[in-house]
Amino acid sequence: MAVFKPENVEDFYEIGEVLGSGHFGQVRQVRERTSGNFWAGKFLKIRKVACSRLGLDRSSVEREVEILQAVQHPNIVALKDVFESRAEVVLILELVSGGELFDFIAEKENLLETEAIEFMKQILEGLKFIHCKNIAHFDLKPENIMLSDKVSKPPNIKLIDFGLAHLFHPGEEYKSTSGTPQYIAPEVISCQPLSTAADMCVLSFLRLSGLSPFQGDTDEETLGNVIGMKYEFNEHYFSLTSPMAKDFIQKLLMKNPEDRMTAEECLLHPWIKPITPKQVAKRNRSSINMKNFKKFNARRKWKVMKSADSCNDAFLQRQCESDVEDTESKPASLLRRRLSSSS
Ligand code: ATP
Repeated sequence: MAVFKPENVEDFYEIGEVLGSGHFGQVRQVRERTSGNFWAGKFLKIRKVACSRLGLDRSSVEREVEILQAVQHPNIVALKDVFESRAEVVLILELVSGGELFDFIAEKENLLETEAIEFMKQILEGLKFIHCKNIAHFDLKPENIMLSDKVSKPPNIKLIDFGLAHLFHPGEEYKSTSGTPQYIAPEVISCQPLSTAADMCVLSFLRLSGLSPFQGDTDEETLGNVIGMKYEFNEHYFSLTSPMAKDFIQKLLMKNPEDRMTAEECLLHPWIKPITPKQVAKRNRSSINMKNFKKFNARRKWKVMKSADSCNDAFLQRQCESDVEDTESKPASLLRRRLSSSS
């Protein structure tokens, strides 16, 4: 059971600038008074009354804390401490100061597939680690893939935000309608039981070509394409992508979660770990279409900013675990609810 310290966080940490905002509060830089070291304080508002729509259930924060405590890995943000006051819980996290991976990439003039693979490898190492512990992240998206700092070479990836993560107990059937519309697995949309395989499907959406193979003209169409796993590699956008990268993506884009590659299998795929000299050469010749990537990233940032303006969907994200029974019978309303958070 996680220990939430009852002391005032400000007695131990000086509160500094805002680093980011989530749906339930802010993340601020904090400075430890004794050591002078910098950390990130994630300030989460706790719901005071069970039926209130403001704030989080304490149990939901307990889950996030317990999971963070269980996942100590170089590619996962570390949790140092937890403080609790009447209205708030503060998680003291490792300060991740390199910004988002996608912003780092978007600033580059070009990116070889081999460089993209190095990033993908670190994401996979983090996922392999948590999946081995029967934990799924369930909210993988560009905003939650950060770089530890701006100086490390190669850059060190940190997966953040375990607010929707789930620890599977043996034999447990878990359903959730939580997630971000652009980055959800088909089994989430169709309210099927979930597993760590949902993270793997989403990973393929994050591949660095800058265009989703499911992209429809509207979000509704995109979600329809995801459910049906209807996609194509448009030559115009994927002409620079190597056949091995396409094979890698295809093996993640399996409708049946059991048919998808696991993180462990991904790390052994020839795109990530080439064996023959021919495979190495093919990787070296391919690159990422940066024009598409920059366009995709700019559009993504705009969407994130827009959604930060409306906190409506926020509440739903963690809340809807308990809504499953209700939403199961109402896929159309589920779709609308999700769409409202993405447009
Ligand atoms: P959401 O509602 O989007 O799920 P959240 O309330 O769970 O968000 P986080 O995603 O954990 O909060 O954090 C919000 C933002 O704060 C992040 O996008 C990031 O910019 C920043 N942030 C979070 N953790 C850290 C950290 N350890 N170091 C630096 N910045 C961080």
